[in-house]
Amino acid sequence: MPRDYYDILGLQRGASADDIKQAYRKLSKEWHPDKHKGDKKAEEKFKEINEAYEALNDPKKKQMYDQFGTTGSPHFGSGPSAGPGGFGGFDFSGFTGEGPSSGSGRIDFSDLFEGLFGGGGRRGRPREERGDDREITVTISFMEAVSGVRRALRVRKLDACKTCGGSGAESGAKLVTCEKCGGTGQIIRQSQSFFGMLQQSVLCSQCRGSGKVPEKPCKTCSGEGRVADDVTVTVDIPAGIADGQSLRVRSSGDAARQNGTPGDLYVRIRVESDERFVREGDNIKTVVTIGVPDAILSTEIPIATVHGSSTLKIPAGTQSGQVFRIKHKGMPVLNTSRFGDHYVTVTVEIPAKLSREERKLVEEWKKLAGE
Ligand code: ZN
Repeated sequence: MPRDYYDILGLQRGASADDIKQAYRKLSKEWHPDKHKGDKKAEEKFKEINEAYEALNDPKKKQMYDQFGTTGSPHFGSGPSAGPGGFGGFDFSGFTGEGPSSGSGRIDFSDLFEGLFGGGGRRGRPREERGDDREITVTISFMEAVSGVRRALRVRKLDACKTCGGSGAESGAKLVTCEKCGGTGQIIRQSQSFFGMLQQSVLCSQCRGSGKVPEKPCKTCSGEGRVADDVTVTVDIPAGIADGQSLRVRSSGDAARQNGTPGDLYVRIRVESDERFVREGDNIKTVVTIGVPDAILSTEIPIATVHGSSTLKIPAGTQSGQVFRIKHKGMPVLNTSRFGDHYVTVTVEIPAKLSREERKLVEEWKKLAGE
C-alpha cells in the first residue's frame, strides 16, 4: 500500500498549496466517519488523509517531505524506532546539504530536534483544554498583613457563559461530532526525521479536544462557552503575608472553552509600609530613645507593637545601642499559629544643653567618680 502523502491525496508531486487544500476538502468529506459509521477502513483512510494534509499543508514540513520523502512504510502508531533499520527507511543520501528539490536544501538541526524532543513524546490522549491563568495585584495595609483580611476583588476575565452554562450550545441544541478531527479530539501530525516518521497528536482547533461541537452555537457566546465579564472573587489574605507574595485561587482564572478546566487566579500582594514598624522576615524592629538617668537607673517604657502596646523593662545600666527582645510580639508566621519577635533598639540620648542645676550635679558626680 503506498504511503506517499501525494498519493493519499490523489496528487502529483509538485502540487500547489491550493491543489492540496482542494483535494483535502473533497476527500475528507468523502471519507468522513459520520458517513461511514463503524467502518474501520474508512476511519483509517480518514486519518491518513488528515495526516497527509497536516504534513503537506505546512510549508516547512512539505519542504522536508519533498526533499527526503518516505521510501519506507512507517505506519500509524510507530514512533522514532520504526522499521528494522531504525530509521524508517529514511534515505541518508539525501542529506548532503543540497537537496534535490530545494534550492537552499539546508536543514536546521534545531527544527528537527524540536520535533523529536519538544512535545514529540506527548502522544496518546491530547491534553484537556484549560483556561488561562490570570494575575491581579492587591494592595493591603501593613496592619492588614498582621491581622489577615478578606477582600472582594473585581476581576475582568473570561467567565462561563450564563446562557448556555458554558457548553457553547444553544439551549436544546445537540452536540455533534467535530468534522475536523472526526470526533477524536486530536489531529495527528507526522513529520520526517533522521529517526523515521515522527507522530505527534495535537488538540483539534475546532472542538479543542472534546471531539464534539454544538450543532447550533449559543448566541450569547458564539459557541465559545465563555464570555468576558467582571467577576467578584473573594480572597482570604492570610495573616503574616509579605509584600510581593502571591496567592493562588484555584479555578478563578479564565474559563476554558466549552466547560474545560478553568485557569487559576494569582493574587499578587503588595503590603504598604508603616512608619512605626520595620519588618524583617517574621520579626519587627523599632528604635526607642531614653534619657541618661533612665539608662542609669532603670525604667519601664511603653512600646507600640503590631499587637498593641507592650511594656518594656529597661534595666539599670543600659547602654546606648542595646537591643531588647519582646517575645512573640512580631508578625504572625504564615500558615501557623506562631509569631515572630519584636526587637527594640535603645538609644540613650546625651543632652546637648544642661540647665545650671543639672550641670552642677554632673560636675559633683564627676568628682565622686574620681575623674
Ligand atoms: Zn453561551
